[in-house]
Amino acid sequence: MTNRQQLFYDHLAQTSDFPLALDIARAEGIYLYGQNGERYVDFISGIAVSNVGHRHPKVLEAIQNQLDKYLHLMVYGEYIETPQVKLAEVLVQTLSGSKLDNVYFTNSGTEAIEGAMKLAKRFTGRSQFVSCFNAYHGATQGALSLAGAAFFQQNYRPLLPGIRHIRHGVLEDLEKISCRTAAVVIEVIAAEAGVRVPSIDYHQALRQRCDAVGALLIYDEIQTGFGRTGSFWAFEQFGTVPDVLVAAKGMGGGMPIGAFVASKEIMSVFKHNPILGHITTFGGHPVSCAASLATLAIIQNQYLAQAANAKGALIKSLLVHPKIKEIRGQGLLLAVEFENFDTLKPIIDRAIHQGAEGERVITDWFLFCNNSMRIAPPLTITETEIKAACAVILQILN
Ligand code: PMP
Repeated sequence: MTNRQQLFYDHLAQTSDFPLALDIARAEGIYLYGQNGERYVDFISGIAVSNVGHRHPKVLEAIQNQLDKYLHLMVYGEYIETPQVKLAEVLVQTLSGSKLDNVYFTNSGTEAIEGAMKLAKRFTGRSQFVSCFNAYHGATQGALSLAGAAFFQQNYRPLLPGIRHIRHGVLEDLEKISCRTAAVVIEVIAAEAGVRVPSIDYHQALRQRCDAVGALLIYDEIQTGFGRTGSFWAFEQFGTVPDVLVAAKGMGGGMPIGAFVASKEIMSVFKHNPILGHITTFGGHPVSCAASLATLAIIQNQYLAQAANAKGALIKSLLVHPKIKEIRGQGLLLAVEFENFDTLKPIIDRAIHQGAEGERVITDWFLFCNNSMRIAPPLTITETEIKAACAVILQILN
């Protein structure tokens, strides 16, 4: 064991007995490089984060420029910080034509979910939430309450009361949304359930049901946003608009940031009774906002969201093998289904540790779907790079 490995196991809190423990020296584009120069294709983007690849030059430049101006100045919302106001402006532009024109910045996805939940409670005066079974919305206690997965929840109870769970994509279950529901918190495409894409009808009916009972619709686009599924926001493909939109992960181009977006009318509840209804010290850090602005511009200027569709289709066309049952997904958020975990796990391990001709490919499974391989590469990946990575996976399968 190297000294670094020893320190990792001795002093870094572990959340499982089998961390990947790859020792990474640097990262560039779609690649991570180990301490001995071994190269890994990051075929999962650090779990849907590196949408524009690692260390995109324009993201680095934006960070550098901001470093020369200021870092943290003041707790969130007091000073006019240029990167924040510019980012809010362009985020709202991606939502033009909707009422979503007011942005609250956080540091992470789970914090954005917490803020959105508080917002819904205050705006509706209700306390009950509806969320989906096998959905992951974050690890803090409000977000964990939504998870609909006893496995992750049972030893952390009591959690928030009054949460009702529905099956993602199942129309009959929408009846559980009632006039006591403050909000439905739901992913547009159920990522950790193994990338389940519901019908357009489902989202339309969900929107109608929320309107009918006066519940807010909160879309968690933490994993699906920023071009991942073939449109800038996944909900654009379903013809519905939420009351609150939540983003994080790919938003920062590798820097930590999250946000929830609502109408000014809804968001204004944080100003009164009590004032300072939601507080964060570091949320919307200027360096993260600068990185996010650059990320958003790259995705838009290079049409990366649109290109994700063809790239996803290419992966689907290449990964054909008797051991592959099906490939689900949209854009570059894909789940490749195998018979079971025991078939999949050695394939993932081999791809990481002993790929063909030195090419190593990092994939993963899903929190709530362990028979499917997660494929979610940087949106900047080229056709050639896709072919090379898929060849490694196929070679292992044969
Ligand atoms: N919602 C979804 C859909 C996610 O995928 C995640 C992260 N995997 C989160 C929320 C939580 O985000 P974070 O880890 O930044 O708190």
